[in-house]
Amino acid sequence: MSSSTRGTVLISGASIAGPALAFWLGRYGFDVTVVEKAAALRNGGYPIDIRGTALEVVRRMGILSRLRAAHVDTRRITFLNPDGSPITSLRPAALAGGDESSDLEVRRGDLADVLYDAIRDDTEFIFDDSIAALDDREGGVDVTFRGGGRRTFDLVIGADGLHSNTRSLVLGPEEPFHRYLGYCFAGFTLPNDLGLSHEGVIWNEPGRAAALYAVGDGDELFGFLPFARPEPPFTAFRDPDAQRDLVASVYAGDRWEIPRLTTAMRTADDLFFDVVSQIHLPRWSAGRVALVGDAAHAPSFLTGQGTSLALVGAYMLAGALATEPDHTAAFAAYERSTRTFAEMNQALVTEGNAALFPSTPEALAERNAALRGLTALPGDTERPEHSALTLPDFAAAP
Ligand SMILES: Cc1cc2nc3c(=O)[nH]c(=O)nc-3n(C[C@H](O)[C@H](O)[C@H](O)COP(=O)(O)OP(=O)(O)OC[C@H]3O[C@@H](n4cnc5c(N)ncnc54)[C@H](O)[C@@H]3O)c2cc1C
Repeated sequence: MSSSTRGTVLISGASIAGPALAFWLGRYGFDVTVVEKAAALRNGGYPIDIRGTALEVVRRMGILSRLRAAHVDTRRITFLNPDGSPITSLRPAALAGGDESSDLEVRRGDLADVLYDAIRDDTEFIFDDSIAALDDREGGVDVTFRGGGRRTFDLVIGADGLHSNTRSLVLGPEEPFHRYLGYCFAGFTLPNDLGLSHEGVIWNEPGRAAALYAVGDGDELFGFLPFARPEPPFTAFRDPDAQRDLVASVYAGDRWEIPRLTTAMRTADDLFFDVVSQIHLPRWSAGRVALVGDAAHAPSFLTGQGTSLALVGAYMLAGALATEPDHTAAFAAYERSTRTFAEMNQALVTEGNAALFPSTPEALAERNAALRGLTALPGDTERPEHSALTLPDFAAAP
């Protein structure tokens, strides 16, 4: 590694895992560059959760109070019948589990902003670019950027999400590592014409659902259309028009607010379409390249744990790099200490069993019966998985 610093590290991806890793590596004396394919920081408004061990990570980063101030405090989730009549309302923790008194829920973009603010002065950012090729050789990794630049780094870390480009470059195509959970979804923002405040509304028919989240009191809603699909619609992934057509065809009809939602989806400028999937890798690194966050072990939004895993993984990877004698030992230590935690949280869901989005009439009827009779879905309040990793103290790192 170069002599002036602990080493140079290129991180691909500036969402959650990338900036969190940059924070800790900067703290330990590494020289960090972050490359992000988007032209600027992405500020998607959907709410994400920070729970269990990840709360301790953000406390150690010194950003807990800013995040508490951004807490969106969703007070209830109301489930609706196909005709729009209410089934019941529950506290969010009754659904996802966790500890209501300490868990945080913030807009993803707010967390990304807070992380960016914490590192912007000490970190080089390259927006609107990405890694085109990697040549991992004895003393470093030669990186060719899509924009044409070429540089050499001691280490490269992929924090570029579920469909990680870095992962493909070092471990090959995604398919063998991709575990499709049987759903696709479209997410987008729309005007809050329903007067919702600090709450979510979930409408279900077998195999298709619509969720609206009022993140606070704002005049925008986050709309979310998840639907069951036996095979992932690969042909739609690279074509936004095909995505819109697919979603509109699945949500044909005039139940509840569905026509309003599909119209908003058609014109949304922030439409986000993807599969509900997990990533399971035999290893999280190869040579001088490692993966963190969704790139390494995406758990899917059904677990509500993607962000927390990303924050914890970043802390553990940086700490290992700061304390182990070399990157090989560090990557091994990172994986040894973090893999079980990631896998426990991935196991919170299995294919086709999403309680929020039942696929068959029988499963929906059963789910609704459970909802009517209870204040929490069976077995869903205790979540030891959220806190299953105790953070080591890397503060003594040289
Ligand atoms: C609609 C929705 C709802 C969710 N709800 C929750 C929730 O309630 N709770 C929760 O914990 N999690 C939730 N998640 C999941 C959560 O957003 C992710 O698990 C978490 O953001 C993982 O962070 P990450 O930094 O690893 O990856 P991402 O957030 O996916 O970030 C990857 C970054 O890499 C960039 N990138 C991609 N390709 C390249 C490239 N080739 N070159 C450079 N940069 C690249 C992307 O632009 C992005 O900025 C939700 C996700 C979605 C989509």
